[in-house]
Amino acid sequence: MLRFVEVAVSEPRGVYHLKVAEYNLHKKHIKKALRKELFPDNFTVSRYKFSPYMACSHGCAYCDGRAEKYYVEGDFERDIVVRDNIDQLLLKELSNIRERGPVCISSGVTDAYQPVEEQLGITAKCLDVLSWFDLPVNLLTKSALIERDLPVLEKIARRSGVSVFISLVHLDDKVRALFEPEAATVGQRLDLIGKLKKAGCTVGVLAMPFLPYIGDSEEHLKTLFGEVMTRGADFIMPGWLTLRPGRQKDFYLTRLNESFPGLVGPYKELYSNNLQSGNPLKNYRDEMAERMDRITADMAVPTMVPHRVYRNTLHKSDELFLLLVQMSELYSRKGIDVSSLRKSIDRCCEFLTGVKKKLGKDIAFNTETMNQSVPDLCRSGKINSILENDKLSAFITEIFLEEKIFDSTDLKLKKAPAGLR
Ligand code: SF4
Repeated sequence: MLRFVEVAVSEPRGVYHLKVAEYNLHKKHIKKALRKELFPDNFTVSRYKFSPYMACSHGCAYCDGRAEKYYVEGDFERDIVVRDNIDQLLLKELSNIRERGPVCISSGVTDAYQPVEEQLGITAKCLDVLSWFDLPVNLLTKSALIERDLPVLEKIARRSGVSVFISLVHLDDKVRALFEPEAATVGQRLDLIGKLKKAGCTVGVLAMPFLPYIGDSEEHLKTLFGEVMTRGADFIMPGWLTLRPGRQKDFYLTRLNESFPGLVGPYKELYSNNLQSGNPLKNYRDEMAERMDRITADMAVPTMVPHRVYRNTLHKSDELFLLLVQMSELYSRKGIDVSSLRKSIDRCCEFLTGVKKKLGKDIAFNTETMNQSVPDLCRSGKINSILENDKLSAFITEIFLEEKIFDSTDLKLKKAPAGLR
């Protein structure tokens, strides 16, 4: 039952009005908001990241954030850390960015739109700050509260691009309620896809983690993928459940026992390897990888952020780096030997790191410098002295000089649409 109560917070003390009695909010003044990555990651495709909160009251039974390696103290669902000065820091730090790139709001141990955000509005304040800068924004959530911020997301999407990653692994809302009790319903999340698309956002569906024996069947995957693609999703990132030994695994098995006691034994067997990564036995991983790859290939669904999305959100050096990483992963999934490609990535990474470091000392260094460097390398043919691979260099040159887009669903180059040249 929802009711308003007052909850005292840790030092410095304050009082928040919340709907749910059980939260303990820990107000924390931080000194730095943004984490900067040297290159974009192949998950969210971001260069900068921040989170207004730590821990999460969505209470997903499988949440990896409970694992000891993340050092989240207290009760993960109730002891919520609130970084309430983050919007002011963000304003200062964004003003000093020299290398432009996408900013991601979220982390693996929180959701920026978890229930406390409705009262505190810290994510909303951060989005307001971000709207003053022409930087692409990426967001991960499984809350319908993001709808509140559609006007500002629409504004940012128009100017610099917004990608929203919505997490969804169930189509049966009764199952969703057991494993993600405080997150948005299945219907709300499906509706969100259309609403965000209408606001001009790119929408990806994080179809992970598929729960073994509950939501990992061939039929369920096909139905789920079909449903989200019909709603207009741009890509789907599927994945299986990882259970890290310790708090995360213990919590999940306890919850599982409450709803599906007959599955506890099979789960213990499936995760009997107790790997630090939390991965299940190899034969299950192989089976799931084959199933996910086959179904997404049959449906021509991209399983990573498409090149057409990041062409205009990353500068050219970062675009080159990410293209090589994505190619390596896609070819590897198809069983193609990528050892030569990996060597090219290492050389490219070393080269670009050197350029960034050298230019970073130059006061005139800016994003445009990085935008120019790759086409120049292609024009002069120097790209091949970095990649040391004729075929790959020709492929990359075609992308950067002939306005082509890499299509991850068939691994071919396509003519870029007018807005992406
Ligand atoms: S929404 Fe994400 S961070 Fe929050 S409990 Fe669920 S999995 Fe964890």
